[in-house]
Amino acid sequence: MSDYFTEMGWTPLSDGETPNHLIQMARFLRDSGMWDLLGQDKLPPPASKSVVKNLPEVKIERADPKQCPVCLKQFEANDKANLMPCHHMFHQECILPWLEKTNSCPLCRYELPTDDEEYEMYRKEKKRAVEREKDLEALHNSMFS
Ligand SMILES: [Zn+2]
Ligand SMILES: [Zn+2]
Repeated sequence: MSDYFTEMGWTPLSDGETPNHLIQMARFLRDSGMWDLLGQDKLPPPASKSVVKNLPEVKIERADPKQCPVCLKQFEANDKANLMPCHHMFHQECILPWLEKTNSCPLCRYELPTDDEEYEMYRKEKKRAVEREKDLEALHNSMFS
């Protein structure tokens, strides 16, 4: 497992060190199944910088019982958060480093656009494949129902 940490630029804790939110993130990934996704050969590329810059910023006015899904801490007054297009909200300090690594929402895997042309092409191709599949299904249904 240590190579995941290296790949993500994380260092494991040494004895007596207290866990920080990156470790919590790692635990979260493991529990949510994202870990398996990270284990794939090709990690989706980082989110597009311009998209990340334009993510709606939310300034928490007063403490909110809602938790940040990454660090599991509640949103406190004056915390800065980002709202993803999927409407999941994360602390900026939790989501920004994440989006520098890969492009999807840690919670629901909603994918943000990337700056990686190759990956964007692959994504379009994948979408087309899904649509073709749907067409086939519709055809099949019209023929056999
Ligand atoms: Zn957080
Ligand atoms: Zn989401």
